[in-house]
Amino acid sequence: MVSYKDLGLVNTREMFAKAVKGGYAIPAFNFNNMEQLQAIIQAAAETKSPVILQVSKGARNYANQTLLRYMAQGAVEYAKELGWENPQICLHLDHGDSFELCKSCVDFGFSSVMIDASSKPYEENIELSRRVAEYAHKYDVTVEAELGVLAGVEDEVSAEESHYTRPEEVIDFSKRTGCDSLAISVGTSHGAYKFRPEQCTRDPKTGRLVPPPLAFDVLHEIEKKLPGFPIVLHGSSSVPQEYVDIINANGGHLPDAVGIPEEQLREASRSAVCKINIDSDSRLAMTAAIRKTLNDKPGEFDPRKYLGPARDEMKKLYIHKIVDVLGSDGKA
Ligand SMILES: [Zn+2]
Repeated sequence: MVSYKDLGLVNTREMFAKAVKGGYAIPAFNFNNMEQLQAIIQAAAETKSPVILQVSKGARNYANQTLLRYMAQGAVEYAKELGWENPQICLHLDHGDSFELCKSCVDFGFSSVMIDASSKPYEENIELSRRVAEYAHKYDVTVEAELGVLAGVEDEVSAEESHYTRPEEVIDFSKRTGCDSLAISVGTSHGAYKFRPEQCTRDPKTGRLVPPPLAFDVLHEIEKKLPGFPIVLHGSSSVPQEYVDIINANGGHLPDAVGIPEEQLREASRSAVCKINIDSDSRLAMTAAIRKTLNDKPGEFDPRKYLGPARDEMKKLYIHKIVDVLGSDGKA
């Protein structure tokens, strides 16, 4: 048994309470490798933003859960080295799908876990989420549960159709599960292809796809039912068109990739939404920088020469999200 407290990590309780009160949201960035982690920590340390490092099932398969946990531990020390005296860094399991997996993360130094039983029937979702919360709370680890279904593909989580969270269920669900935060479905979606072209309209000037707006009415309804309760948005990448263009101009092929407009995420951040998950945007930043570098310098074969620019681009993106979209800068 390793306690996250001994690793210098924090759970989400205090950061969420402050975020809900302050009308901003905490960034939750997924990481799979060293360059991503360096970029996240540099961005958070420079802007003094609390940050959630997320490990998905795909990341565990790719990089190994043990290695990722030690990297997060190293990240705390690295943040201090960068001059961030009291780093507010949470290590979070993204989309845990079983009690055993959540337990193993709690036992191994994670400070927060998500149990995603949203694809199960309502009562089963409650029962599994409740078991996880009961176990995690013994060790002061916070728990995110999910109600409603998001469309899209993210690592091994995928659903064809979304259905919005039903506001009439949220009080019962949060009470009976004892979860600390609730991921809801209000029109965000996993991956870089969040909407099919037929769900969008086209901007006549640019020819770009314009996605349908988020269901703010559902979000506000949920806020009214659970005043001050931390709400989480998954699948909240914006799929910056600059990156898509760079990728496509340098041998890539991402036709009609589309995300959530940043103005809408800015608006959500000011509500009870206090955690916003961003993964695809950093993948796009990394891929754009790597493709461009390799295309510009065909003789380059030192990975540092293309992963370095990729890291710089991701850092720029993270700072932009923190300062211009979520408003979490200066809060840690
Ligand atoms: Zn997700």
